[in-house]
Amino acid sequence: MLNSTSRLLYLCAIVLLTLLAGCSSDKGQQVNVYSARKAELVEPLLQRFEAETGIQVNLVTGAADALIQRLKAEGKASPADVLITVDAGRLYRAKQMELTQALDDSALLASVPDAYRDPNGHWLGLSLRARPIMYAPDRVNPEMLSTYEALADDVWQGRICIRSSSNIYNQSLVASMIAASGADAVEQWASKLVNNFARNPVGGDRDQIKAVAAGQCDVAVANTYYLFGMLNSPDEAEVKAAQQVAVFWPNQSNRGTHVNISGIAMTQSAQNKNQAQKLMAYLLQPESQAWYAQVNGEYPVTASAQIHPVLQSWGEFKKDDINVLRLGELNTEAVKVMDRAGWR
Ligand code: FE
Repeated sequence: MLNSTSRLLYLCAIVLLTLLAGCSSDKGQQVNVYSARKAELVEPLLQRFEAETGIQVNLVTGAADALIQRLKAEGKASPADVLITVDAGRLYRAKQMELTQALDDSALLASVPDAYRDPNGHWLGLSLRARPIMYAPDRVNPEMLSTYEALADDVWQGRICIRSSSNIYNQSLVASMIAASGADAVEQWASKLVNNFARNPVGGDRDQIKAVAAGQCDVAVANTYYLFGMLNSPDEAEVKAAQQVAVFWPNQSNRGTHVNISGIAMTQSAQNKNQAQKLMAYLLQPESQAWYAQVNGEYPVTASAQIHPVLQSWGEFKKDDINVLRLGELNTEAVKVMDRAGWR
């Protein structure tokens, strides 16, 4: 039997634990994140945020399109406060499906350049993903390269590798070209490009880079972080392949190289708006921005952040400054154009 003092202490301890548990489950101190980024590309930053602010982050990861479907199915009852995903096309889609809402922190909105956020404040870019031309320097003189448009020239017959038109990165690239020159011109371009393919589209961006290294084609179009990943791969064969491929920044004499974003949106169902906006601000701090370049080989959306030496070695480049929102708006048209051109 406990004596009365022990019993009192025991009861006090129970009360204290109950109170503490109550505090930690205070919904004002949480933020619920749905992320289409792999855990290793988001978790370390979320953990730092948690340690610095005391705001608990609950992370759910999943495939990009599946998470959008999940938000739709959960509706107003969704526990998610924010959605982190890749490609402006998807952020646009989420907004069109009324799964997002406007942010109200004007300083937060102003911290992201206009081109990389929704004009109504529903989503913000967190990192930039550049999609340049990559080539085999032993077979291609970079002076032969100039623009995406010029990849349709006869000189590239049977020499180009690019992934399928079902991929949103290519859809967004084509959308950016439609914004620049109109659907008819881009359809003609795409038909000629398809004629220049070295093979029917197969695999992801890494596979196109590997095909250039293996001599199956001389030129590919791929996102830089795949080349970065291969250069830092534990697989020696991947490192060797990547070393045989160089980066060319197209369209430097006109609109600039196509870039897309990874981004973050406040969900329509968000219950923890202040915490969500604090998290967004944290992810846009220079240290967090530099982290994307150091770990994933992406580019910061804010100008002040340091980039990785490998990225520096590829040189500075002019970026297409089209508002990435247009990539979403023109997505359907881009898909039609690619389909009519026979790009499978
Ligand atoms: Fe990717």
